[in-house]
Amino acid sequence: MPKDQLLTRRRALLAGAAAVGAAGTAGALAVGSGDGPAPAAAPAPGPAARRPLEPSAYRLQPLTGYGAPREALRRPPVRSEPILRMSGRGRVMMLTFDDGPDPRYTPEILDTLAEYDVRATFFVCGEMADHNRDLLSRMADEGHVVGNHTWSHPLLTRLTRRRIRSEMERTSEVVERAYGEPPRWFRAPYGAWNRAAFQLGAELGMEPLAWTVDTLDWTTPGTGTIVERVEDGAAPGVVVLSHDAGGDRSQTVRALRRYLPELLDSGYHLTVPRRRLV
Ligand SMILES: [Zn+2]
Repeated sequence: MPKDQLLTRRRALLAGAAAVGAAGTAGALAVGSGDGPAPAAAPAPGPAARRPLEPSAYRLQPLTGYGAPREALRRPPVRSEPILRMSGRGRVMMLTFDDGPDPRYTPEILDTLAEYDVRATFFVCGEMADHNRDLLSRMADEGHVVGNHTWSHPLLTRLTRRRIRSEMERTSEVVERAYGEPPRWFRAPYGAWNRAAFQLGAELGMEPLAWTVDTLDWTTPGTGTIVERVEDGAAPGVVVLSHDAGGDRSQTVRALRRYLPELLDSGYHLTVPRRRLV
């Protein structure tokens, strides 16, 4: 089939999936595991123990969030567990990329997303964002969501409340300056959450978002293995974790080029998280 017909077919699938996805969704939580390494090469702990979580009242909203005035957003509750998946009737998934932006890899990821007209979520570290503000501007221009992943990727469970607040606040400030609005989503490094992280995140207007499927791409398992992990884990509501910084991410870049068109051909709609409006 000629490429233009394929693209047309993908757009039709996308339009159908978007309509289903916007029809209303109830929240759901699943399980998370480990996270990638810090940009500063801090040792990554082993994957966290998998454990069941309680359902939450989290709901995704239709795509009305672009450019919403910040005061219109509902202040998030203080949660005791992060959101781990989306729930909906359609074949909707989310792609998330952590620890960047990195000028060696992030632009190619953005190029691939643009080629397929797909939006993703980037959980950036403040110290990376501060040096790559142009990439945050590009993310804003191209409709991606930017989340807060702390300034220096520390293990929050070892920090004082004051340090955690500083890590979060500095990052939200640089995101607001470069992206144009403050982040509405927070993800703890290594998936290591604690009460202070939930409380401070909510104070700063952010919901905690974890993931459903971990590609473990930071272990550089091979492009094919990353593709398999995404495709084997693909299911409605799944949030996929990958990394666009913190080491050699060329496998992550190549894997996206392979699994993204295949997910779209399977009828998946790749979307970004939306917050309820007051
Ligand atoms: Zn991370």
